[in-house]
Formats: sequence, structure tokens, C-alpha cells
Amino acid sequence: MCSINDAEFESDEELMQPDEIAQIDGAICKKCNENKAEVLLRVKDAYCKTCFLAAATHKFRATVGKSKLVRPTDSILVGHSGKAGSTVLLHLIKAGMSEAVHKRLMYKTTVLYIDEGAVIGEPIEQRCSEISAIQEQVNSLGFVGHVVPLSEALHNTEPKIYPLDCGLEIPSDDAELINLFGAISNYTSKEELLHKLRQKLLISVARSLGCCKIFTADGATDLAIKILSNIALGRGAHLPLDVGFVDSRDSNIKILRPMRDFTRKELSYYLNFHKLKVVQIPGLTTKKDAYVSIQNLTEKFVTELNTEFSGTVSAVFRTGEKLTTGNTQTTNSGKSCVLCSAPLDTIFTDTSSLQATEFSRLVSAEGPMGHIGKDAFQLKTFGNAAEATENTATDGAKRCDNCSCSRSIERPEKSVPDMDIHLCYGCRLIFRDLDKQHSMPEFLQNAVKQQRSLDHMQKEIAEFLL
Ligand SMILES: [Zn+2]
Ligand SMILES: [Zn+2]
Repeated sequence: MCSINDAEFESDEELMQPDEIAQIDGAICKKCNENKAEVLLRVKDAYCKTCFLAAATHKFRATVGKSKLVRPTDSILVGHSGKAGSTVLLHLIKAGMSEAVHKRLMYKTTVLYIDEGAVIGEPIEQRCSEISAIQEQVNSLGFVGHVVPLSEALHNTEPKIYPLDCGLEIPSDDAELINLFGAISNYTSKEELLHKLRQKLLISVARSLGCCKIFTADGATDLAIKILSNIALGRGAHLPLDVGFVDSRDSNIKILRPMRDFTRKELSYYLNFHKLKVVQIPGLTTKKDAYVSIQNLTEKFVTELNTEFSGTVSAVFRTGEKLTTGNTQTTNSGKSCVLCSAPLDTIFTDTSSLQATEFSRLVSAEGPMGHIGKDAFQLKTFGNAAEATENTATDGAKRCDNCSCSRSIERPEKSVPDMDIHLCYGCRLIFRDLDKQHSMPEFLQNAVKQQRSLDHMQKEIAEFLL
């Protein structure tokens, strides 16, 4: 039990006290020392509207500029959700396009809205009206946009992309998407899967539309929540990709987060000053209890703590930023996860905590009469793809991998254990919550097949060269 107060402090007065919020009435802007303050940030920093908006524009441009990753004439795909972050992002890009010539942003900007209505069972009429609201908002910000249904993430072919103004045809794979989410037993894993499918779709749409970069609107508050929930979900090894400025897991198309220094409070001031409206679209856990998923609970923890201790978001975010500079090469033979494309973080060593966790899980699953030999354990959990391929006999039947008897056994095809070795630790956890009767999504099965033939080919070449 946590006993920090007993051990370190003798009375409550010595504990951290909630911030005392300064009064903005009558305050003067601390930047220009002239105008009346209208914005209060970090409890006591008061700014006037002009200084705040100038600082917001500077912050956006500096975040993009200092990375030196974006060239002035790049084609950018902006993932737009209708919410505060992406609305402000589009407004900042548009404003940058009308700046003086030497400061003008020249990006060829394409806006993309992902229709996720099927996941929460929304009727098609409601999804169409949400798309119309997004279209109206995007047009008012000076852009035209595209829409793609989330079900397009469930295959590896070119996605069907529609202009925002043409209405949405009912996508034929919606049933597959609904079944998949229906077969996952908890909201933590559903949210993770939704996020991974969204990222995958953004990359494939960018490729299809010829965009070389993607801007997403994750702000500082979102990223602080993500840092803590990622660690809780066993995704610590991928923090540099998931919360850093650049997600470079795709070698050709980079996902960039230019809004990462904006807190929710700053976004809200920006929207108010420019009279911008957001479009509220229900998500997977809208109106659900805070305890429904780890992500929701982390959000409640971070935002509530931040209202009393205004440095919370910044402390978590800056700490996460330092973690992102660590070694990102936690790869397993240079292989990537077939779902999230991050380097496999499932390096198997005799002393890893991952080994202990997996062993404990397998022993519990086998029950008191079960027997798992060391070799079988390694192959079941962390064996490399080549070993797994070998474990399938040439007649196509699966051989027993609990011992060395080599007898054929009946095992359902396309089951989760078969595919585990091609998934990173976090993605494995998603599919542990998949109904046993439901097979893995077809696009993942195909990716695994492809990976296995590649492994086989590499092995043959290596043998030939020896
Ligand atoms: Zn000022
Ligand atoms: Zn993964």
C-alpha cells in the first residue's frame, strides 16, 4: 500500500497544495504590458488576445519548422475529426497561406475525415448528417475534403475515398467491421484497435492521394494521456513513435503532430477568439463511464489532476518527450508488427519481465494438469517466424508444439496464438480479448502469410549463400 504521506510528511500542510488561480479582472498582458489581459494560462500568466494569437501562430510554425521535415511545397494530408485540435490546425494552415510572401505556407493541403459511425452502430442517416456537418465546417475553413469509411482499413487494397459533398454510399465491409468490434470483449482493446486502424487508413489514403506527410491534431493534453495509457497498455517501447513529433514507422509517409504543444485550454481560447465551431461526433466511449477503459480512466486522472495542479499535463508531456529520445531500435530481427507496423518489441531473453508475464499467463491457461516445456513455451510465445513456419508440417497439418512428439494436432486456423509472433506486445493484448470463435481479420492473415514467405525466402537465400 502506498504510504508516502506516513513516511515523508507529518501533516497535510506539507503535501503539494492546489494552485491558487490568479484573477484576470483588471490584469495587464505580461507580454506587451499594455493591453487588457483576456487569457489566463498556467494559472498566473495573463495575455491579451493579440499576443495570445500571435504566440499560437508562432508556436505552430516553430513546431513544424524546427523539425526541418516539411518542405514548403509538400503535399499534406490533414486528418480532421471536426474537434477542437483539427479545427484549429486547419485554421492555422489557412491563415499561413495568406501571410506575406516570405512567410507564406505553400502546402498542398488535403483534408480527410474518417467515418467511424459503423463501429458504434450509428444508422447511415446519422453518419450522412455528420459528414454534411464536417463538409460545412471544412468549407467554412476554406478547404474541400474527402471522407473514407473506417472499414476501408480492413483490407490491403487501395481505399475507396469519396469527396465530402457526395454523401456516403453504404460501404459493403461494414458488417465485417461491426463483427470484429463486436467480438472484442472490452473497450480498452476496442479503442486500441480503432486507433491502429485509423493510423493504417491515414497512411494508405495518403499513399493513394500522393501525399508525403500526414498532419494529425494531437495536442499536449491528448499526448500526456497517451503517454500514461500507453505505458499501462504495454506500449512503452513505442512511445517515441506514438507521442513524438514524428511517427516514422512507414518509410515513405511520415505522420507529424504539429499541434503537440497546444493544451486543451489554449485550443478553446483560439476557437473562441476566431469564433470557430467544432463538430461533436460521438465516439466509442461517449457517454460511457470513466471506468469503461484504461484510456478513459487515464483521461479522467490527467484532466482532473490538471485542474488543481496546472503543471500536470506539462510535466507528463515533457517527461514523455525525454523518453522519446531513447533507443528506438527495440527490434526483433528487424521485423515489424503486422497491425501497427512498429518494430517488434518482443525480444525474448531469459531475464525479461515479458518472459515472466507470458510464462505465468500460459501456465494459468493450461491449468493444474498442464505441462509446458521450455522449448514449447519459447515457440508458443516468442519463437521467430521461421520457427513457426517450420512447426507446420509439410503436409500442412500442425504438429504438436507442447513436446517433441511430432504428432499432428487439430488447431483452429488463423487463431490468435498462430499470429502472436507477428504482433508487438500491445497489439497481442488487443486480440487476447477477441472472442475465441472469431478468426483474425483477413488483412492481418494476409500480412502474416506475406511475412512468412518473406522469412522463408530470406532463409533460402542465406542457405544458398553459405
Ligand atoms: Zn499583449
Ligand atoms: Zn503492434
